[in-house]
Amino acid sequence: MGEKRYAGLDYFRLISALLIVSIHTFPLLSISPEANFFLTHVLARVAVPFFLMTTGFFLVLGKTTLNGFIKKTALLYGAAILLYLPVNIYTGAIKQQFSPAGIFKGLVFEGTFYHLWYLPASILGVIIVCGLYSKLKPRVVLGVTMLLYLLALLGDSYYGISEQFAFLNRFYNVLFIFFDHTRNGLLMTPVFIALGGAIAAAGRQYSNKICLTGLSVAAVLLLAEGSFLNRQGMQRHDSMYIMLLPVMFFLFHLLLNCRGKAEKKLRTLSMLIYIVHPMCIIVVRGFAKAVNLTELLIDNSMLHFIAVLSISILCSVIVMTFLEKKDRGRKADRAWVEIDLEGLENNIGQFRKILPESCGIMAVVKANAYGHGDVEISRELNNMGVNAFAVATVKEGIRLRKNGIRGEILILGYTLPDEVSLLKQYDLTQTVVDLSYARMLNSRNKKIKVHVKIDTGMHRLGESFDNMDNLTGIFQCGNLLIRGTFSHLSAADSLAPEDVKFTHFQIERFYKTLDRLKEAGFNPGKIHLQSSYGVLNYPYLKCDYARTGIAMYGVLSSREHETRVPVLLQPVLSMKARVILTKEIGENERIGYGHQCISGKKTRLAVISVGYADGIPSNLSCGKGQVIINGRKAGIVGRICMDQLMVDVTDIPGTRQGDIATLIGHDGNEFISAESVAAQAGTLTNELLSRLGVRVPRNIINNRTNAAKSRVPLNLKNTLSSWKFSIKSS
Ligand SMILES: *Cc1c(COP(=O)(O)O)cnc(C)c1O
Repeated sequence: MGEKRYAGLDYFRLISALLIVSIHTFPLLSISPEANFFLTHVLARVAVPFFLMTTGFFLVLGKTTLNGFIKKTALLYGAAILLYLPVNIYTGAIKQQFSPAGIFKGLVFEGTFYHLWYLPASILGVIIVCGLYSKLKPRVVLGVTMLLYLLALLGDSYYGISEQFAFLNRFYNVLFIFFDHTRNGLLMTPVFIALGGAIAAAGRQYSNKICLTGLSVAAVLLLAEGSFLNRQGMQRHDSMYIMLLPVMFFLFHLLLNCRGKAEKKLRTLSMLIYIVHPMCIIVVRGFAKAVNLTELLIDNSMLHFIAVLSISILCSVIVMTFLEKKDRGRKADRAWVEIDLEGLENNIGQFRKILPESCGIMAVVKANAYGHGDVEISRELNNMGVNAFAVATVKEGIRLRKNGIRGEILILGYTLPDEVSLLKQYDLTQTVVDLSYARMLNSRNKKIKVHVKIDTGMHRLGESFDNMDNLTGIFQCGNLLIRGTFSHLSAADSLAPEDVKFTHFQIERFYKTLDRLKEAGFNPGKIHLQSSYGVLNYPYLKCDYARTGIAMYGVLSSREHETRVPVLLQPVLSMKARVILTKEIGENERIGYGHQCISGKKTRLAVISVGYADGIPSNLSCGKGQVIINGRKAGIVGRICMDQLMVDVTDIPGTRQGDIATLIGHDGNEFISAESVAAQAGTLTNELLSRLGVRVPRNIINNRTNAAKSRVPLNLKNTLSSWKFSIKSS
C-alpha cells in the first residue's frame, strides 16, 4: 500500500520552496551580483512552473479533482489573505487599492501580497485549461496555452521587443491597466498546467541519460537567454523565459524517474514555507533593527536568507504538527472498506480478454456498486474506457450523472410513472419491462431512450419471448427510442447438465426472437444477454455488451461455483476495523448477549469496532467467523452486536488497542475471502457485499498506476460532465 511513485516530485517541492525564499531574499547578493542574478532571476524561476506542472499532472492522473483543487487552494488563499491583512493595513497598501477595480486586480491577479499572486493564478490557470480541454484536443490546448505564454513573455522578459512596436506597445498599455504583471493566471500559468497534464496523459518515460542531457543543454541555454536579455535591458520583469519550457519538460521527467516512498509531509511543509516566508522576512528585519543587528542579519544576504529560512521552517513545522493532530482525529475510522482499483483494472482486463472483440462491457454498478462505492468505481471504469453502465433504480442513475459519469446508463428495474421525466433530464435509458409499461412510457409524448427486455425463461422482468404480438406492440411505440434489446440467464452459474441445457434454450429463444423482430422490420439496437457467469461459461456469444457485475469486483457469487473459462480475478474490496480494547477473562465466563458463548479456559478477548449494522452477518457469531489480526486468524466469540464484535486473541500475544482487524481481505500470509464469509453466513457474496453498511467509509487504495496511458485527461472530463448535469438540474 502507500504511494511509492512520486518521491522525486515531493522532494523537489521542498527545493522549490527554498528557491522561492531565495527569490525574495537574494542569498548570493553580497557574494556576487552575477551569481545572484543567475540564481534568483533565472534558475530559481523553475519553482513556480514546477508547482503548476504538478497540479496539471495530478489533475489528469485523477489524484486530485478539479473541485477539490479549487476548494483547497481557495481556502489556503483566504487564510493567507487574512494572515497578511495586518501588514497591508499597516503599510497603507489596502487604502491605496480600495476601489472595486483595485480589489479585483488585487484578488485575481496580484494576490493582495506580493508572493500570493501564485494562488489565484493557479486557480485561474486550472479553470482555463479545463475549459480548453472540454472544447479542444489536448495537443491544441498545449498550443493555445503556449500562445498565451508568448503574450506573457512579451510583457515580461521580452518587454524590450514590445516596446519597439507601436501596436504592441498600445496593447500592453491596455493590459497593464488590468494587471501589473503578465505572470498571472491568464497568461503565464496555463501553459505549465497543460504541460504537466500532457506529461501525465502521455505516460511516457525517458531514461535518466536523456533527461539529464536535455536538462543540462536547456539549462545552459536558459542561463544564456537570461544573461542576454538582462544585458540588453529587455526585461520589465524576469519571471519567464522561453527556455523554461524545455528545462521544465526534462526536469519533470527526471523527477518522475526518482521513485521511492512519497512524502506527503514534504508537500505540506513546502506549501507552508511558501505562505509564511514573507512574514518571516518582516520579522527578521524588524528584529534586526530592534536589536541593532542590521549588518549581520540584513546586509549579509546569506545570513539573512538563512535566518528567514530557519524561521519559516520552524513556523511551518509548528503549523504542521497542529494540522496533523487534527488530521489524525479525522482519519481514524472505526471500520472501513478498502477499494483496490488495480484489482478492478485487472478484472476488466480479464473480461476483455475472454469476450469477442466486438462485445463491450456494461458495468453493473447497482446497489452502490455491490457495496464498493458506485461513483468511485464508475469514475475509474470511465477512465478505463468503459462507457456503459447498469443500475437498478433511477436514483442510482441520477447520482452517477451528478457525479460526472459519462456514457449510457441503463436502469434495469422499474421506474415509477411519476419519475419518468427524470429519465430525459438526466439522459438515462429505461428498461421496458412489458407491453403495458411501454405504452405508459409512450404516452408521455417525449422521446425516451429504452432497452427492451425479453423474458426467455427466468420469468422476472420482460415481455415473453413467444408473445410476438406484444413485442411488436412495444417496437411500434413511436416515442420510444429503442437502443437495445436484452434478456437475462437464470442458471448460467451452474454447469449441471440440465441447467446447461436450460441456458441453451434461453440463448436460442433470445436469438430467435431477435431474428423474428428483424424480419418484421424492427431494429433491436444493441443486444446483450450475459451477466458475469454468462461470460465465464458462455463467452463466445455474439452480443454488443456483457453486463458484468459480481466478477468485475473480483469475486464469484459462491465458492462452490466452477466456471468453464478459468480467470484470474482479483478481489477489489477488503473490510477492516479496529481493535478498540483487549481484556483478560477467567475460566467459564459468559461472553456477550444471551450467554451463548462460554470461555473454557482463561481467555484474552479483543473487542472490534464493527457489527451487523456495518454488514457483518450475525450468522458468523460464536466461532463461525474469523478475523485476521497481526497476520493471524482469531475466531469470533459471543454473539455479533450491532456495532461491535468480540474475538479470541489468546494466541495472538501483543494484540493492542488500535490494531487493525481484517474481516475480508489479506493481512500478512492470511486471507479471508468474501466467498468464505458468504458461505459461513449461508448466502452469496452478492448479498454480503451489497449489504455492507452505509456508515462504513470506502477508502480508495492503489490508484491505478497507468491511468496516464489513455490519452485524454480523464477526470477533467468527468468533472466537466457533472457540471453539465448540475446546471441542468438547478
Ligand atoms: C444484477 C444484474 C446483472 C449482473 O449480474 P452479475 O451476476 O453480478 O454479473 C446483470 N443483469 C441483470 C439484469 C441484473 O439484474
